[in-house]
Amino acid sequence: MIGNGTKALTDFVLPGGESTLGAYRVLYDALPVAIYATDAHGRVTYFNQAAVKLSGRVPELDSDQWCITGTLFRPDGTPLPHYQCPLAVVLNGGEAAAGVECIAERPNGERIWFSAYPTVLRDAEGTITGGINILIDTTERKRAEIEASQQYRAIVETTPECVKIVGSDGALLFMNPQGLRMIGDPSAQAAAGKNIYDLIAPEDRDRYREMNERVCRGEKASLEFDIVGFEGKRRHMESHATPLRQLDGSIVQLALTRDISERAEAQRAARLLSAIVDTSDDAIISKNLDGTITSWNKSAERLFGYTADEIIGKSITLLIPPERLDEEPEIIARLKRGERVDHIQTQRLRKDGAKIDLSLTISPVKDGAGLIIGASKIARDITPLKRAERSSLLLKAIVDSSEDAIISKNLDGTITSWNESAERLFGYTAEEIVGKSITVLIPEELLEEERKIIARLKQGERVDHFETQRLRKDGSRLDLSLTISPVRDSTGKVVGASKIARDISERKRAEARQLQVESELRRANEDLEQFAFSASHDLQEPLRSVKIYSELLTLDYGGALTGEAQEYLKHLCAGVSRMEMLVRDLLSYTQVTKFDRPREPADAGSALSAACASLNSRIDEASAQITFETLPAVPVHGAHLQQLFQNLIGNAIKYRSPDRAPVVHVSACRTNGHWTFAVADNGIGIEPEYKENIFGLFKRLHTSDEYSGTGLGLAICQKIVDRYQGRIWVESEPGQRSIFYFTLPGG
Ligand code: ADP
Repeated sequence: MIGNGTKALTDFVLPGGESTLGAYRVLYDALPVAIYATDAHGRVTYFNQAAVKLSGRVPELDSDQWCITGTLFRPDGTPLPHYQCPLAVVLNGGEAAAGVECIAERPNGERIWFSAYPTVLRDAEGTITGGINILIDTTERKRAEIEASQQYRAIVETTPECVKIVGSDGALLFMNPQGLRMIGDPSAQAAAGKNIYDLIAPEDRDRYREMNERVCRGEKASLEFDIVGFEGKRRHMESHATPLRQLDGSIVQLALTRDISERAEAQRAARLLSAIVDTSDDAIISKNLDGTITSWNKSAERLFGYTADEIIGKSITLLIPPERLDEEPEIIARLKRGERVDHIQTQRLRKDGAKIDLSLTISPVKDGAGLIIGASKIARDITPLKRAERSSLLLKAIVDSSEDAIISKNLDGTITSWNESAERLFGYTAEEIVGKSITVLIPEELLEEERKIIARLKQGERVDHFETQRLRKDGSRLDLSLTISPVRDSTGKVVGASKIARDISERKRAEARQLQVESELRRANEDLEQFAFSASHDLQEPLRSVKIYSELLTLDYGGALTGEAQEYLKHLCAGVSRMEMLVRDLLSYTQVTKFDRPREPADAGSALSAACASLNSRIDEASAQITFETLPAVPVHGAHLQQLFQNLIGNAIKYRSPDRAPVVHVSACRTNGHWTFAVADNGIGIEPEYKENIFGLFKRLHTSDEYSGTGLGLAICQKIVDRYQGRIWVESEPGQRSIFYFTLPGG
């Protein structure tokens, strides 16, 4: 429009311009744009009212040269001398672009922007006759432009995000201060002339390059990537980019980039937290203040039996047993006051209706403004604990009612518990002794023994029925049997010991009495044996004299005696023989214990042969048959073994059946580490009621008239096997057979 106007005005210029102008003067005066005309030298020859309004002054005709305004400035603020103003340039034959922008200062100091459209006037020959300049006031537009650009600048500079312009080759063309801070270069020195690709973390560089090239082809794009700043710090960024067309038509990337490291970190932390919440052994639940459940972790699923899907959105009262429903309003009231509810022990319901013992810790949850909007609840299953508590209360009753003292102590010997029996036994009350050292109960000389016990406990060993002595409070001694077990903590480490102490004073006293009786008895037995030995030994001598003289009497004077005297003499000789046998047996009986422990084992086969040799005449006389199996060597005296065989085989021949020749079989078998010998005969046998009796001293089932004997043979056998902790017994079928068994050590 303006351009067209300028052209039109030029068209009107005719040779002798002044008068031509005059024809249009009224028109020019009425135009709302400033117009002035000059002569060929630039002197002002005309101006309209709009020119006065624009310049803020009344131009001086023929005096003002080239322009009608006061001081001039270029758009960049530098002074513009009047002779270089747009009209001066064209009048001097130069080129001046239409719409050249200038700034003029009005006399009141106000600056205005205008665009100048200068034109030269020429005559028919083309000689410059003057000039016309049209000035368009652009102050308002310019101000708006400046304001807008200042606003943009302010936005760019104050936005917390990075604003940057990146060339299609990655060159960093512009970056706001926030951006510079984000890349660790607040002074912009390192960033100047940099390629943005160098700042992108290597693993994201290709993606970023691809995005930049796409944007520079005219597309919008968004991308998350990591940068490594100049200071080496890694940041996670989110960028939204748009193509920006340059004046030369090329496209660059304008991007708004935000540092989301914290958000990413927060997301990571949130993920971590949620993983922790899910792996927690405790049930973690959150709810609104109206009791609606808003979150429910895995342990809550396990503990209560509801899945998160089933329960979220439901009321927490679903979990509360009817008799405990009044707990909830009280808890809510405390939470609303901002209080935390710590470790309250209560019961809740599982989905299957079972009650569980729980410890609850409930904390208020606040929103960003600090307003309480709900609660988080940590529920720990204490059912096993409660069960343990209940069983320990039982246990406590047992401990208290136990007859035994039950004490526990630390590894350093400090007493930690003390039951009622311990009070009775030791005379200390629990108050007096708990916290004291166990050594107050231990006699001085037994302290070392206690140290050894502690060492065994530390190894995790148990000490069973250990008999020792301890001190009562009054200083007297107690005989005790101690059973001590290590006490471990939850990790299995031995941290102390529990001790059960049984008073064995009474038993010890009884044992001592028993020992005394036994030793008295032993002494009496020894005296008796000594007496029997001496008596039988000393009796042998006079007995031999009686025997010799009675035999001499029979031999030398038997014929001279009457029949009745001869009968008396026969009885005398028989009595002497029996007496001799008795004395001999008695002597062997007393001699059983005379031998020391054998140095080497005796061969039972040899002992049997020796026994048979000494029984030779009786075997022959009875036509007895003696058979035997392989016999072992046993750790006993050979003489004892021989005596056993001799007495048993002798009896087998003596108590033979009148109907058959005696057959005796000797054998041995090994059982449970000892040898069991058997001497079997086919004799008259023994009635069951006498099976035990016959092993006693002088016990006989027959008179001397029926069978000669002293009743000592089996008693000697019994004494021999007793000496070797063996056993002797008989199995018999009366009239058929007897088998005498005896056991000896296996060696
Ligand atoms: P005795 O000197 O009487 O033989 P023992 O002590 O040897 O004394 O035997 C005790 C009694 O056991 C015998 O009197 C006899 O009655 C009985 N007796 C011992 N051995 C046998 C046997 N092999 N058969 C039957 N009875 C026997």
